[in-house]
Amino acid sequence: MEKPIPISAKTRIFCIIGHPITHSFSPFIHNYWFKELGLDFRYLAFHVHPDQLKQSIKGIKALNIKGFNVTIPHKETILPFIDKVDVLAQDIGAINTIKLEEAKLIGRNTDALGGKKALLDAGCKIKNKKVLILGAGGAARAISFALIEDIDYLVIANRTSERVRILVGDLIKKKNCEIKYINFDTQSLKQELGEIDILINTTPIGMFPNISKSPISKEIIHSDLFIFDLVYNPLETQLLKDAISIGCKAQGGLDMLINQGALAFEWWTNKKPNIDKIKDKLIENLMRN
Ligand code: NAP
Repeated sequence: MEKPIPISAKTRIFCIIGHPITHSFSPFIHNYWFKELGLDFRYLAFHVHPDQLKQSIKGIKALNIKGFNVTIPHKETILPFIDKVDVLAQDIGAINTIKLEEAKLIGRNTDALGGKKALLDAGCKIKNKKVLILGAGGAARAISFALIEDIDYLVIANRTSERVRILVGDLIKKKNCEIKYINFDTQSLKQELGEIDILINTTPIGMFPNISKSPISKEIIHSDLFIFDLVYNPLETQLLKDAISIGCKAQGGLDMLINQGALAFEWWTNKKPNIDKIKDKLIENLMRN
């Protein structure tokens, strides 16, 4: 590939803000696509403490930065500083992608559609299916609102009952189908799993460095399940290993990561990035670490 265009007074900046931030793959992904498409853009990561969120948004606007991402812990707390968010992001109550348009900040949640696309592209049928989600944090909110219109039944298991109760309440306002929550323990999960078609892990359990952990015991999963683990580091989590070993169809979190980036990239630049090449590069990168 050609060298990137040298930085000059014309170079435009995009960025991600988070706390912590050094784990983020977004600079790698977007800078790869900028270089590949010969765009005079750069993407940087900024460590922004929650106390500095408001000031950082003012700064981004003042510097005329045309697009940026937010990650943990700013996805919800940024909303009061955003001028307009689309309906899906309003429902989710969180955004991860922002575009500056005519001096207004517009927010979207590309995790939601990126996750749904990853499932569909992996051959998972969603329409009228029964889904069990593990976890009730930001990623669970994004994926559950992305799927809720299509599925027939949703059960969410979470460690903290207050958080899952609020999520289920918000989902019920959106769609009047059977949606409930259960405790996050083996007995409760076992009782539900017999009926379930798609199991989605949105907890960080199994993520590097705790790679031998799985959010659910292998003994209670069955081979008719489609298992989607949002964790992408490692590429094959313990949950995915267990799923594959008993004959389930399974999908890791890498495609969702790439899809959410691609949706942001297209929105900012009106150009389609190369999904396959960046996937190979990310796999190389993740295998090295
Ligand atoms: P979050 O808002 O902090 O939510 C984390 C969820 O996991 C909460 O429901 C939390 O339960 C639960 N949890 C955490 N540790 C647990 C433990 N030891 N035992 C049981 N439950 C536990 O985080 P998030 O933004 O949703 O992200 C969650 C995971 O998804 C991360 O691994 C992240 O990397 C991944 N993710 C992947 C993508 C992708 O593109 N592939 C996108 C977004 C997120 P409590 O409510 O009880 O705390």
